[in-house]
Amino acid sequence: MATSTCPACGANAFVAAASAGASEGDGQCSRCGYTSGESSRCPHCDAVARLEGAGLTAVCAMCGGPRVPANLGGDVARSALREQKKALANARAASIATVLQGGFSTLATLLGLALLPASLAGKLVVFALAIVPLVLAMRSRGRARAARESAARAGERAWQAAAEEAAARREGGVTAAELAKTLGVEAEHADKLLTALTVSDRTRIDVGDDAQVRYSVGPERLLRVGEASPAGDELDDEATPAEHEGRVR
Ligand SMILES: [Zn+2]
Ligand SMILES: [Zn+2]
Repeated sequence: MATSTCPACGANAFVAAASAGASEGDGQCSRCGYTSGESSRCPHCDAVARLEGAGLTAVCAMCGGPRVPANLGGDVARSALREQKKALANARAASIATVLQGGFSTLATLLGLALLPASLAGKLVVFALAIVPLVLAMRSRGRARAARESAARAGERAWQAAAEEAAARREGGVTAAELAKTLGVEAEHADKLLTALTVSDRTRIDVGDDAQVRYSVGPERLLRVGEASPAGDELDDEATPAEHEGRVR
């Protein structure tokens, strides 16, 4: 997909809006985040807001939720980003709980050492006060790690959907370098995204006369861009029937 000159930063990184009904000039710069039009509507807070940061760390300037440039990837990316935001919030909450519970356990241990109760019952109380929060802290830490991993998986799904749409929108497919520029990510990550799409049969590879590897989306796949991802993606099944209807529209 072609990029044009960004009216804000002047870089050739402005991605025109894809949605039908988008007017001329609607789009988003993958470099500075300059924003105009519906393609910049945040999937989290619903505001037309620019991106803060670029690439994988790009977040909505209004609500701080993770986003992809120009809302590429349609509804698949949108729901994956929402899932990512939720998982990130869970991870943060679990991390805070880990610190608090760990701190309480340390405090109880110090208190127990200071008081050193003589009776067995007293010792048991001190032991329980120290060990229970410690167990809870360890559980919270595991929960935080799981939430971070699930956030990373959801983010990866969103970026794959964005890469798929970028490949579909460019006639003849994209190279990893072109995709990197469009999405504002490292070439290495663009390569990884395209490889993942090819492995799951969502893009195909052609080597052109210029010996460049191009990834493209066939016409049969084009229809599916923006719809629910193929069956087997169990994490996507959280969408309500109404949402599924919305995707096919
Ligand atoms: Zn710009
Ligand atoms: Zn937002």
